[in-house]
Amino acid sequence: MKSTKSAALYAEAKGYFPGGVSSPVRAFKSVKGVPLFIKEGKGAKVWDEDDNEFIDFCGSWGPLILGHNNDEIRENIYAAVAKGTSFGTPTRWENKLGQLLLENNRFVEKIRFVSSGTEAVMSAIRLARGVTGKNKIIKFEGCYHGHVDSLLVKAGSGLVTFGESTSAGIPDSFAKETLVLPLDRPDLLEECLREYGEEVAAVIIEPVPANNGLLLQQKSFLEELRRLTKAYDCLLIFDEVISGFRVGFEGAAGYYGIQPDIITYGKIIGGGMPVGAYGASAEIMGHVAPDGPVYQAGTLSGNPVAMAAGYASAKQLLAPGFYEEMEAKTQAFVKNIQDFCDEREYPVHISTIGSIFWMAFDRSTIRRADQIDAASMEHFKALHADLLDHGVYLGPSGYEVGFISAAHTPEILAEAAEKIKASLSRVF
Ligand code: PMP
Repeated sequence: MKSTKSAALYAEAKGYFPGGVSSPVRAFKSVKGVPLFIKEGKGAKVWDEDDNEFIDFCGSWGPLILGHNNDEIRENIYAAVAKGTSFGTPTRWENKLGQLLLENNRFVEKIRFVSSGTEAVMSAIRLARGVTGKNKIIKFEGCYHGHVDSLLVKAGSGLVTFGESTSAGIPDSFAKETLVLPLDRPDLLEECLREYGEEVAAVIIEPVPANNGLLLQQKSFLEELRRLTKAYDCLLIFDEVISGFRVGFEGAAGYYGIQPDIITYGKIIGGGMPVGAYGASAEIMGHVAPDGPVYQAGTLSGNPVAMAAGYASAKQLLAPGFYEEMEAKTQAFVKNIQDFCDEREYPVHISTIGSIFWMAFDRSTIRRADQIDAASMEHFKALHADLLDHGVYLGPSGYEVGFISAAHTPEILAEAAEKIKASLSRVF
């Protein structure tokens, strides 16, 4: 694959930005080659500056459940932009999106729009502390919740790519308010709550942990989490920045039938524009300013262009059978590759939920971050490079999941599966 133009642009970018990027994992540090500068996307495909074409499984890291440059989203954005980009006032678009989301989600009664997933989580944590009057937060090893100071402790995503678990620049006094537990160990959660319950404001989890591989949890663990948080008067926060609108319109809360106290959203909710949100019962949201004492604000929050994009996106997700179809074609794609690997006894296990998949280079079931063998990522490195050479784009880290969109037709998925199988046979 020729990447002359991407290489030149990257060399230039390194003079402007740390690592040449605006977000660390984009720098291709844990894979081979230079970051590809993408200039265009349509449907399931993207094209880079060197005119290479790829079937894309990164989907801008999750937001693009309808594929690139979705016609209805683009038209709505154009319509909104034609009237101006931001007013710093309430607008009709917010109402439209708010109504659509709340009327179709049994798990939140009120929401507040923000501009990123990080902001949503940061605000949810503040809200939990404001509501309970307690300070400590329990999180799980490998769950990433954005670059919120107190949550960058044993987090996944870019951090794990760089072989670190905690960021520099986090005061010990913040980190000490965060208790970190392994996933899949309800006994340890109970022990921790027995000791610290009176100080714990909230337990936060990605109910579908998808930032350190795909660490699918047993429903019984999530149910136990719900039971224990209630018993110890702590709030349960589902961070659904990835799973929200992805594993179903009602996200993981709907998928597992579990009512958390606060839910955070991002990615899909903005249809590719910068939007996040947090929601809860009317009672809990009553603590948010200006109704209550928990302050949270944003110059561009709920801006009409982002709201119009989110509305066009959410509306399409409500089409009957949307999620069933996404799940069915994802499962067929995964099974196609898994069967191939099983026949050849390759050390590969692909886990999947909804339209998310993750390839582990290990045959056992992985539910915790510490079960992933870092050395196995060498296989990913080889696979990633080979797939780029053959027109398939995976996110540039073996710890990141793949996303399938509505634009990935069964034919495109069959073509991608053949390419992936051929790559695997070159890697193993
Ligand atoms: N929470 C989760 C579960 C995420 O996956 C992410 C981003 N990958 C975030 C929070 C942070 O979102 P953002 O990057 O939009 O700040």
